[in-house]
Amino acid sequence: MKKITLVLPILLAGALSAAPAHAAPLKVVATTQDLESLAKEVGGDKVQTDSLAKGYQDPHQVEPKPSFILKLHSADLLIVVGRELEIGWLPPLINQARNTQIQPGADRYLDASNFAHILEIPTGQITRAMGDVHPQGNPHYWLSPENGRRIAQGIQKKLSEISPADAGYFAQRYADFDKRLADAEKKWAAAMAPYKGAKIVTYHRSWPNFVETYGLNVVGYVEPKPGIPPSPSHTLELTQEMKKDNVKIIIIEPYFDSKTPNAIGRDSGAQVVTLAPSVGGAKGAPVSDYLQLFDYNVKTLVAAFQATGMKGGA
Ligand SMILES: [Zn+2]
Repeated sequence: MKKITLVLPILLAGALSAAPAHAAPLKVVATTQDLESLAKEVGGDKVQTDSLAKGYQDPHQVEPKPSFILKLHSADLLIVVGRELEIGWLPPLINQARNTQIQPGADRYLDASNFAHILEIPTGQITRAMGDVHPQGNPHYWLSPENGRRIAQGIQKKLSEISPADAGYFAQRYADFDKRLADAEKKWAAAMAPYKGAKIVTYHRSWPNFVETYGLNVVGYVEPKPGIPPSPSHTLELTQEMKKDNVKIIIIEPYFDSKTPNAIGRDSGAQVVTLAPSVGGAKGAPVSDYLQLFDYNVKTLVAAFQATGMKGGA
C-alpha cells in the first residue's frame, strides 16, 4: 500500500510537466443554457461549458441531481441568473459542492443580472398575497438582446480576469458576437415592427424584457399572480377582457400545462403560441444558441400574428 501512495505523486508530477504549454480550458458552469451559450460565444475553445437547468425546464423549479454537485465541485467559474430565480434549488447544491471559489460573493461566482437592465423591481412592501414576486426584480431579463450583449461583456471581463493571457482572445470573441448580434437585432426589429403595440397575453411574467424590446403590450397573464396556477375566476375574467380587447395571442412557456391557455384560446378566439423562454427550450426545433433563441421566437411570433390577421395596435 505504502509503495502505491508514494508512486502516485510522482506520476502526477510527471503528467503535469508533460502537459502542453497551453492551459486546460476553464470549466464554466452556468445555471441556464442561455448563460452557457453566452459564455461559449465569448470563451471559445478556452472554456469548457456546462449548464444545470435545461431550457425546457421551469428555471424556478429544477430537480437537483448529484451530477450537479460534481459539476459545481470542479467549476472554475459559476454563472448564475440571480434575482432569486434559482433560490429554490441552487443554494444547497453550491453548499454541497465544497468549492470555496464559487460561493456567492466569491471571485468565481458571477451573477449575470448585475450587468443587465432589470425590470419590475417592486417598490413598497412585498406580501405573500402578491404571489411569487421576485423582490429584486424580474429574473427573466436574458430575453432582450441588449441584455445578452451586456452579459456577454460581463463574462468577457470575468474570463479576462481569470486568464489574463487570453484577454485579447476573449475581447476579439466578444467583438465578433457583438457584431453578429447587432446584425441580427436589425433583422428581428424589422420583422417585429408591424406588430408594435399589439395586445397579447402571456402565461407567466417571463417576457417583460422581450416585449419591451419589440413594443408589445401585455394586457394580462394566465397566472392570476406570479407562480400561482390558473384559477377558474381569473380565467373567466381574463377571457372576457381578451374578447373585449380583441387579444389574439397567448404566449406560453413549454413547461406549463397548456390546458387552461387552450381553453382560454377556444373561448376568446385567440391563438396559443409556445415560445422558447431559453436556449434548448423549443419544442421540436433546435434552438441551440442565444441568437437562435431570438430567431425562433421572432419567427414563431410573426407567423402567429400573420395567422390571426393581426396588426400592430390591434
Ligand atoms: Zn418568473
